[in-house]
Amino acid sequence: MNVFDESGRAASGARAAARCRILGGERYSDMSGGLFRPFLGTAHIAAMELVSAWMREAGMIVARDPAGTLVGRYEGQRPDAPCLMIGSHIDSVHNGGFYDGVLGVMLGIECVEHFARRGERLPFAIEVLAFGDEEGSRFPLSMLGSRALSGKPLGTVDTMTDRHGISLHDAMAAVGLDAARIAEARRDRSGILAYLEAHIEQGPVLDHEGAAVAAVSGIAGIQRFHVQIGGIPGHAGTVPLAMRHDALAAASEIVLEIEAFAARHASSLIATVGRIEAFPGAINVIAGRVVLTVEIRSVDDAVLEGSVGQVEERLAAVSARRGVAYTIFDRQTFPAARCDSRLVSMLATAMEQAGLRRRVMVSGAGHDAMMMTGWVPSAMLFVRSPRGVSHHPDETVEIPDVEAAFDVMTRFISDLGRTGIGPENESHAREQ
Ligand SMILES: [Zn+2]
Repeated sequence: MNVFDESGRAASGARAAARCRILGGERYSDMSGGLFRPFLGTAHIAAMELVSAWMREAGMIVARDPAGTLVGRYEGQRPDAPCLMIGSHIDSVHNGGFYDGVLGVMLGIECVEHFARRGERLPFAIEVLAFGDEEGSRFPLSMLGSRALSGKPLGTVDTMTDRHGISLHDAMAAVGLDAARIAEARRDRSGILAYLEAHIEQGPVLDHEGAAVAAVSGIAGIQRFHVQIGGIPGHAGTVPLAMRHDALAAASEIVLEIEAFAARHASSLIATVGRIEAFPGAINVIAGRVVLTVEIRSVDDAVLEGSVGQVEERLAAVSARRGVAYTIFDRQTFPAARCDSRLVSMLATAMEQAGLRRRVMVSGAGHDAMMMTGWVPSAMLFVRSPRGVSHHPDETVEIPDVEAAFDVMTRFISDLGRTGIGPENESHAREQ
């Protein structure tokens, strides 16, 4: 089958996936032998040109906003109608996969092409957004495009440099953008009806269940903190076990306590100890000090907040029993982002109409949608990640799953045109 033959749905899904692979090619990567497309690198500029051409071909007017986001607009039945934004990102992590972010942009273009080909105008415009920086793989701030668009604080954009010492200011100037004007990317909320983002799941859940797609009810919030365990260092040969205050043995018990805690609350949170360091860190010395990281994720901010205290209770118990001291430091909180319950419900209904199982799940990873929820009604659609592989060259998608996503998205858009978003209805808010 020629996937570019524009003969209908199967072609649209296949073409979206094929275009992700084209953008995975050498010309669109800043590393050899793999994909690396950081913000405003040569590869990103080349990718923007190609994506612009595809947007135009699909019937959109294309512009670049002051934060380097590519915006393709397909007008609605009347000019200046509010728009449905369909967005994701076209930057990548180092040696990343072809589909993370890009697939959502390609599906947005296919949706517009679908309505444009039939000459169908909707009560709203559709804007396809290709954010230039989501991963933060060049400058130390992620989600720059969606952050600026939604008017969130931009942090230290004035002084940021990449690892080669090139300032964001110079990187933007080189492509005709002005870092001093990033904030002008902020959009007027009244011009936006809703935000939709399709993205690969980046985890194994849908693959495990044999499901093609799922609506996302929310993006998990994150609590991160460090724990220091203070024991007493000593000679590995001379200090009897009963007389030790071994910080590493205590930390090991704490790691397993945190895992057990996460297992007991598996329906509402997930917790991980991702790094542990022992000091002095010698083969013949009892560790006197250990520092470990704890990360807890939940879509429920109250659960998240309460979980820190629960972890601390276990820390206190283990520390008391083993005669070591503990301190918690560098605590960071990233609040959960709830998708709009009405849009989530509409996506789930579109799945049923498409002959798929109604499936709603939580996103454990961050996405541009985080910047949009709470600002405009937002929703996400996950596409199965075979074997859950992501941020890796082996990341892939199944064409029938991309076709299913396209089917769900176009039905969702048609329904939105017919019924609008509808009144707030809290009964759907906790649909899982
Ligand atoms: Zn992504």
